[in-house]
Amino acid sequence: MIPITVVEFGPEEERLVLEVLRSGRVAQGPLVAEFERRFAELTGVRHAVAVNNGTTSLIASLQCLDLQPGDEVITSPFTFAATLNAILEAGATARFADISPDDFNVTAATIAERINDRTKVIMPVHLFGQIAEMEAISSLAAEHGLRILEDSAQAHGSTLGSRAAGSYDIGSFSFYATKNLTTGEGGMITTDDDELADRLRILRNQGMRARYDYAMIGQNYRLTDLQAALVLPQLDRYAGIVETRGANASRLSEGLAGIPGLVTPVELPGRGHVWHQYTVRITADANVTRDEFVEKMNEAGIGAGVYYPRLAFDYDAYRDRDDVIVDPTPVAERIAGEVVSLPVHNHLTADQIDEIIGTARTILGDAR
Ligand SMILES: *Cc1c(COP(=O)(O)O)cnc(C)c1O
Repeated sequence: MIPITVVEFGPEEERLVLEVLRSGRVAQGPLVAEFERRFAELTGVRHAVAVNNGTTSLIASLQCLDLQPGDEVITSPFTFAATLNAILEAGATARFADISPDDFNVTAATIAERINDRTKVIMPVHLFGQIAEMEAISSLAAEHGLRILEDSAQAHGSTLGSRAAGSYDIGSFSFYATKNLTTGEGGMITTDDDELADRLRILRNQGMRARYDYAMIGQNYRLTDLQAALVLPQLDRYAGIVETRGANASRLSEGLAGIPGLVTPVELPGRGHVWHQYTVRITADANVTRDEFVEKMNEAGIGAGVYYPRLAFDYDAYRDRDDVIVDPTPVAERIAGEVVSLPVHNHLTADQIDEIIGTARTILGDAR
């Protein structure tokens, strides 16, 4: 089997974890602080605040914006459930803008259609590792006095020009086991807003500014040094990891070019894709359906997967709720029926890439 993700740690991680174990300082400590410093550097912001997972980082960010019931957050319907769950947990109302078929992300134009008097936050999701058109979205937010929360859970270090995902106002990241960088479970909020960063640090630690000095109602959202020990060595290697993922994506796109009914993903001009997923589309003119394609790939031992088969709001749990407003998003609806992600991770061999390409070509009746 060629798996879609491989979670692998090296001797540096083992050494650092052992160091933390022997120190006895297994809760939040100096390694978390070091992780924050280095992640702020990667993202090009003044502050990075570590929390216990990516969903928490979205929730905490929204909680610090003091949203009132009925305040609306505009996001993508083509995302993981956490994006929507966080909006609802923060007590706000979710509204959905359509996506572009080119990068699978919301655009300034589709967001603009949803802005109204109740809109408070724009929450793009940088899906599969490619940043959305943040310059245009940022201008739109400024024009309407809105905050931006970038769900960058899949886009650590993705860039638009010289600017990274998570640097446009508030950025939220996940370090879940299968993300490009991992602490097992973990999250991070990035911002240049001094006051927001201060509030986030207090919020994550039971609302305490200093010991038993409660400045607000808080939570326990802390990450631990044991978790930070896993990711610090990955940060040293991260540029190389992204380069390998990019090279694998290029090889896949070269090999899969010109197959009727298969559309390969593109890195748009000016953007730095970090290839969290390599996602093709199986369109109506293919000789098999998307689901048949996935099944046949899996039967042939290739870990192809569908992210995401349905739009976020399209489950019973979200139906008939006043805080989930569903407008038509026809592009997202079509794309959800077409996508298939193929292995692109940095542990793939050249032979495995050839096998992925050859198998896809055979299934789609275009063997060479
Ligand atoms: C992974 C992910 C999250 C949530 O992160 P967790 O660390 O699993 O809580 C949020 N949004 C998107 C788009 C994700 O892929």
